[in-house]
Amino acid sequence: MREILHIQGGQCGNQIGSKFWEVVCAEHGIDQTGRYQGDSDLQLERVNVYYNEASCGMYVPRAVLMDLEPGTMDSVRSGPYGQIFRPDNFVFGQSGAGNNWAKGHYTEGAELIDSVLDVVRKEAENCDCLQGFQVCHSLGGGTGSGMGTLLISKIREEYPDRMMLTFSVFPSPKVSDTVVEPYNATLSVHQLVENADECMVLDNEALYDICFRTLKLSTPSFGDLNHLISATMSGVTCCLRFPGQLNSDLRKLAVNLIPFPRLHFFMVGFAPLTSRGSQQYRNLTVPELTQQMWDSKNMMCAADPRHGRYLTASAMFRGKMSTKEVDEQMLNVQNKNSSYFVEWIPNNVKSTVCDIPPTGLKMASTFIGNSTSIQEMFRRVSEQFTAMFRRKAFLHWYTGEGMDEMEFTEAESNMNDLVSEYQQYQDATAEEEGEYEDEEAEYEQEEGY
Ligand code: GDP
Repeated sequence: MREILHIQGGQCGNQIGSKFWEVVCAEHGIDQTGRYQGDSDLQLERVNVYYNEASCGMYVPRAVLMDLEPGTMDSVRSGPYGQIFRPDNFVFGQSGAGNNWAKGHYTEGAELIDSVLDVVRKEAENCDCLQGFQVCHSLGGGTGSGMGTLLISKIREEYPDRMMLTFSVFPSPKVSDTVVEPYNATLSVHQLVENADECMVLDNEALYDICFRTLKLSTPSFGDLNHLISATMSGVTCCLRFPGQLNSDLRKLAVNLIPFPRLHFFMVGFAPLTSRGSQQYRNLTVPELTQQMWDSKNMMCAADPRHGRYLTASAMFRGKMSTKEVDEQMLNVQNKNSSYFVEWIPNNVKSTVCDIPPTGLKMASTFIGNSTSIQEMFRRVSEQFTAMFRRKAFLHWYTGEGMDEMEFTEAESNMNDLVSEYQQYQDATAEEEGEYEDEEAEYEQEEGY
């Protein structure tokens, strides 16, 4: 068995993480006490990827929950699936991070990190063959962001050959009113570029827009945003949890999607979009699902794929449908929009069908794209960062925790470099290489080599 160890940190991380477990338990037929009540062998075939099987026959999430204050974890514990988690795996402090990345990464978080690592180690030792880790966190606060990235770097040090997947929530002023979030997010991106293998970008700006524009919710709450996130997380992990060929483990997913190691930030899309508690009023056809899945309005990241090009993409369809029709529809999209796919990676779009639909739907599809247009989101955060950093506004909160201004400068340039790299591959064409060689040949002739 190739196990995954799940970690959730901070308010947002714990909230989206526990929603993830609610959805996944429902899909695998596991009730609130960890007992299997399902009706299909497929639910259990790969259940060990995410669950430990206790001697009493209970399925226990392989999950570690951490925070620098007890509040959110208390509500997880008293929530619907609160009793399913292993009590020893709740690790928390009392101090809080006050939306300060430096507190999470260097001071308060650094004090608690060894207790978290002890639990992580214990879970890892219990695994037959651990494939990697997944971390749920926000980048705008202090704990999920600062302490989350500290944990990621410690895990990378201790388990350098295991995969690290993150579900990272990017901040948006539309949803939050903490001004320093662009600082926290930029410092985190600096870490994620180096220490994570694959990052699923969940952008609060896009989630808010989907709730407001598509789902017509006038004042979207975190609960509404998290409903979209848990549906997406279920879709993204579907290939890891159920039998199948495509992207069946974290490394295969990475190999298919990442042509250059730093460019591992993915846009994810979901169809059909539904709001909390609403029933889907009719079933969709494969062409409709395909069309919606590729639509920028369905992307959980505020960037328009039509402003860039796809390096790679993967699509997971769920439910009973014809694989042939899926393949035809997917090819159709690529043929009609060929200029939006880099031509120098042939066959860069893969798709697969998983028989089991998400709970409550007959059919659904999830999209994971490595699009150069994601630079639009990084540019947005970068502009907000630079506006404040130019005047060194709020910097004393960070230097007061012992941070050096230099780390801000480095984080800023690392993220700007990332933007330039996306731009470079967006502009790259198949001919370019040939032209370049010709020029070089001419040059060599002139010089008389
Ligand atoms: P932490 O507890 O110190 O890690 O801080 P938070 O997780 O509260 O981080 C603040 C950021 O997370 C802000 O950008 C918030 O908008 C966002 N956030 C907090 N809770 C949630 C949530 O439940 N869902 C979503 N989508 N975003 C959240």
